[in-house]
Amino acid sequence: MEVRKIKKVIKRAGAFAYSTFNKKSGFEKHIPILYYHSIGKSLNREGLRVDTDEFEKQIKYLVENYIVVHLDEIANLVKSSKNAHKYAAVTFDDGYKDNFDVAYPILKKYNCPATIFIASGFVKKEVEFTEGGEKLIPLELNDIKSMNDDLVRFEAHTHTHISLNEITLDEVTYELERSVKEIEQMCGRKPTHFAYPNGAINKDILKRVEDVGFKSAYATFMSTEVKCEDLFCIPRVMIDMDDTLKDAVCKIEGAYNYLGKMQKGKTDL
Ligand SMILES: [Zn+2]
Repeated sequence: MEVRKIKKVIKRAGAFAYSTFNKKSGFEKHIPILYYHSIGKSLNREGLRVDTDEFEKQIKYLVENYIVVHLDEIANLVKSSKNAHKYAAVTFDDGYKDNFDVAYPILKKYNCPATIFIASGFVKKEVEFTEGGEKLIPLELNDIKSMNDDLVRFEAHTHTHISLNEITLDEVTYELERSVKEIEQMCGRKPTHFAYPNGAINKDILKRVEDVGFKSAYATFMSTEVKCEDLFCIPRVMIDMDDTLKDAVCKIEGAYNYLGKMQKGKTDL
């Protein structure tokens, strides 16, 4: 069995144990924020591309069970002291061409709002992404303009997609400000939310994101449990290519939140 599949089995067992022994205890706010990369039929090796039919089933489940909102509303819910059950959001990282070709028609079919965190240098073809030898194709400017309605919004994910813990803090500020400027030029709207590339985050980076003027920021900790103090490290639930609908529903309902606690515990946050 491949290592990735073995890890999957272990994570499923953990989710089963966690959901059995932690039934709704300590859920201050349950806000599932899904995050995807690429959607399509040909599966890539890293498991980041979700099958089109599975994606549709997941979106259908989400809109039937939650009120899917944009990130401005999520930021308000995170800050608010009221119970936020029923709300959810859908996000995509990087800005792949198939987000327009494949995901957008499904989002429109279910009237499901979504956010694409764009790595502006990737979309401008200044930076290339490859995975397992496959060159990944970015959104075209025309795709962005065609999707730039109220259903899909574009937010920032740095310019070059560098892990922010590998550069100086001044370079962090440059990456953030450059992506804001580029996305504003592409969309005619200033991005106000941010997602950390590769989930690389620490206290100093978080402070820079706040100082640049973003309203909120998204981490890659696997959790649906959101606390007020997490406004600049909001956890998300990554759906990957091995997930059955049952797996995706378990993630959405919080059975994998134990993973997020472990992941956050490894940082200085
Ligand atoms: Zn990314």
